[in-house]
Amino acid sequence: MASSYVPESIFELHDAIARDFISNYGRDVILVFLKRVQCDCAADSIGEKPGNHWVDGAHLPAHAFCQQCGGEGYRIDEITQTVKMAVYYAPKDWIKINSVLTLESTDGIIQTRSLIESIVLIEQCDYIVADANVAGYGPLKYKLKGRPVPHGIRGDNEVIALWQRI
Ligand SMILES: [Zn+2]
Repeated sequence: MASSYVPESIFELHDAIARDFISNYGRDVILVFLKRVQCDCAADSIGEKPGNHWVDGAHLPAHAFCQQCGGEGYRIDEITQTVKMAVYYAPKDWIKINSVLTLESTDGIIQTRSLIESIVLIEQCDYIVADANVAGYGPLKYKLKGRPVPHGIRGDNEVIALWQRI
């Protein structure tokens, strides 16, 4: 018992160092969540308002001519959340977690390191924009590759994730 005892203060110190590192060296990474919502035009057609659109004698629902949703009756809303992450582009800089060691190719892949609180957001987002400000390239989008991995001295204060360019 005594030989394996590590003072709690060591974990607290490491946690503080990780937080400092990510807040100082991390960048603002935008997490994007796509949500399917009913278009306003579909709400109109439920109310069965009389429309003026007739084709071959048939009455078409209002949303058939909607410019916003292209007649689908729903649209995709983007919800975004910004999270501080250290972003590693060069594979030589990556933290060597198992999913890194088993990668067949590192083409178009980046690694991020962020605080453990962000793990659910990482798992649920549809993609991230890691480089909104890279001149000449536009926003670079990446999709989560594999599962994010908790990391740290006790495995619970940071999360490491791999992302594939899309
Ligand atoms: Zn519509």
